[in-house]
Amino acid sequence: LLCEPKTYPTQKQAETLDFWVPDTVLSIAEGDKVDFRVEGYVAYDVQALIEHSGMPFEIMIEDVQLAVQREQDSNIRAVHSYEKYNDIDTINAWTGSIAEENPDLVSRSFFTTSYEGRPVYLLKVGKSGSNKKAIFIDCGFHAREWVTPAFCQWFVKEAINSYGSDEEFTNLLDNLDFYILPVLNVDGYAYSWTNDRLWRKTRSLNKNQKCVGTDPNRNFDAAWCTGGASASPCSTVYCGSTPESENETKALGDFIRNNLSSIKGYLTIHSYSQMLLFPYSYTNLRAKDHNELNSLAKSAVEKLATLHGTVYTYGPGGKTIYISAGGSDDWAYDTGVKYSYTFELRDLGTYGFLLPESQIKDTCEETMLAVKHIAEHILNNA
Ligand SMILES: [Zn+2]
Repeated sequence: LLCEPKTYPTQKQAETLDFWVPDTVLSIAEGDKVDFRVEGYVAYDVQALIEHSGMPFEIMIEDVQLAVQREQDSNIRAVHSYEKYNDIDTINAWTGSIAEENPDLVSRSFFTTSYEGRPVYLLKVGKSGSNKKAIFIDCGFHAREWVTPAFCQWFVKEAINSYGSDEEFTNLLDNLDFYILPVLNVDGYAYSWTNDRLWRKTRSLNKNQKCVGTDPNRNFDAAWCTGGASASPCSTVYCGSTPESENETKALGDFIRNNLSSIKGYLTIHSYSQMLLFPYSYTNLRAKDHNELNSLAKSAVEKLATLHGTVYTYGPGGKTIYISAGGSDDWAYDTGVKYSYTFELRDLGTYGFLLPESQIKDTCEETMLAVKHIAEHILNNA
């Protein structure tokens, strides 16, 4: 499987396999390290095949079902908690109460309605002022990346708790607005709670197709549906019928287009693999602002590591990691948002998407350091 990923079993079949890192067989080159999940008895066949080939391999999660059961290891019994994974209804209710309780710092607006009819809410966090620069942060693009909505909630909590007591964060909130979108792909996220913990895409039906959903992070007009994206609706990296074919991605595109004069930064939070990436992912060519984006990424991951020693790699998506077209970070950058970054949070594959709740706090705390560092640079330079 690993030596000839594009020919075995067939490309179409291989595209439907569940690759975790990178997120599709289409992005794998010979010699790459990959994480993927194999189901049931096939796992033994695949293991035998790899053993026979002599390639080095390691089983990170022997029993995914068991890891799912152990993931929710918090003892907290409150309905909503920042140190637990919260389901979509709980997060939506939280967006309402957090805005209601902190009207001078947080406001909630209706972002869009999802394909299945769920509300998508946006929070605006910051002290009111005129002509403020803004940073847009989204979480929950990919349904199974549960630690990412946890981070967006954590950010809002920290902003509220720090305002007036922490000089650095107070300064950021006085001078910047943060748009926080806790869960973009609300339908996929709900489905990952009720039906398939490892679901990735949206839940929109594809015309005359049995397979459901589009990969929202292949659905933007940035070399759309070329490298590392698939035109097959059964693929986990299906690019959709057109750019911004999904209600959720269209709403994000519209919002950024309509607020281009104020939005100076775009941070999209994913997991896992501990990386900080910036444009481009659709090409190996360097972005115009490569040097500045690169040195800011370097200092941000250094800052992140100071808390718990968590090591991040960083660089332009395509060149350092792998080519993938149609991502929101590349699109935002080409649209005019210079400081455009993708975070891939913890871990390196020990738990992968099934990061135990007991790691939410440390993950969010360290990520906050990097995000605040980037925000400070934007405040001083944009
Ligand atoms: Zn992702």
